[in-house]
Amino acid sequence: MKANSDKKPSQRVRYSFVKIMTGSDLSRRRLPFMALDSINPGPMVWLTGCIHGDEVTGIVTIQEVFKRLRRQPLIKGSVYAFPLMNPIGFESGSRNITISREDLNRSFPGNKDGSLAERIADKIFTTIKQTKPTLVLDLHNDWIKSIPYTVTDPDPGETHKRAYEKAKAVAQKSGFLVVLDTDEIRESLSFSLLRHDIAALTIELGESYVVNEKNVQYGVKCIVNILAYLEMVEKPGQPFSFELPEVVKGKSLTFSTKPFSSASGIIRFLSKAGDVVKKGQAVARIYNTFGKLQDTIFCLSDAIVLGHSDSSVAFPGAPVMAFGVFQK
Ligand SMILES: [Zn+2]
Repeated sequence: MKANSDKKPSQRVRYSFVKIMTGSDLSRRRLPFMALDSINPGPMVWLTGCIHGDEVTGIVTIQEVFKRLRRQPLIKGSVYAFPLMNPIGFESGSRNITISREDLNRSFPGNKDGSLAERIADKIFTTIKQTKPTLVLDLHNDWIKSIPYTVTDPDPGETHKRAYEKAKAVAQKSGFLVVLDTDEIRESLSFSLLRHDIAALTIELGESYVVNEKNVQYGVKCIVNILAYLEMVEKPGQPFSFELPEVVKGKSLTFSTKPFSSASGIIRFLSKAGDVVKKGQAVARIYNTFGKLQDTIFCLSDAIVLGHSDSSVAFPGAPVMAFGVFQK
């Protein structure tokens, strides 16, 4: 006897591919594509991961979100995903597309007749744009010693206000620290989407290179918060909120990696990711090989430490730490 044979599924699941190139061995390179469509119309949310080949946590976060949504189907709308946008970089543990050494996240909106990265960017961008999404969440990883946070792009201008306001509202519901980027990276996926009137947000999920299970859990909870805000899933009983020092809560933060090191040498860190630091506080010292102090990194403002460099090698003009700077 067949159980529930008359019951129609409330959503459709599809896993397929988008072709990006043919290799020198004539192998076809493709981007895996995942889709969940509820039978009830609603918002269209995209999840994108591993645009930088060494940033692997997003892939698994997307897998886990899809597993969860297959167990507890969407109330309405669609969730689409490109979990692995840079398979060539991923296979060699490299941020960039190894063949052409290009940064895919500096190649948007892309060009179908351009460089390899621009062609891949064009495939990603046109595929996403065709679906007229409500929101795109781009999952990244940061330095090894870093806390998770969301990054909103600088204001893309009055004509893109609606998309930008939506992205900022979504960030507030993420459960993560909300950090405003001050550098305008025009060719990134998120900023290019905003300039095409599509709300987009970058989510930094801690360390690169190795899947960090804790950060996967945080990432899934953050995405569930956002889907619940869009009324696509049930609201969690207790909305997720990443644990932070009390003084940070409700603060507007801007991203900064200043001051840079002024000397070459060996960095000894005095603060760690998640620490709240004061203006003028020493957060790192740089010594030469004989142990003589070369430079001390003092905070320029009150801030929270988002993370510190993956290496203790210092060079003049190189960033040592990243801060979420408290705005007045
Ligand atoms: Zn990245």
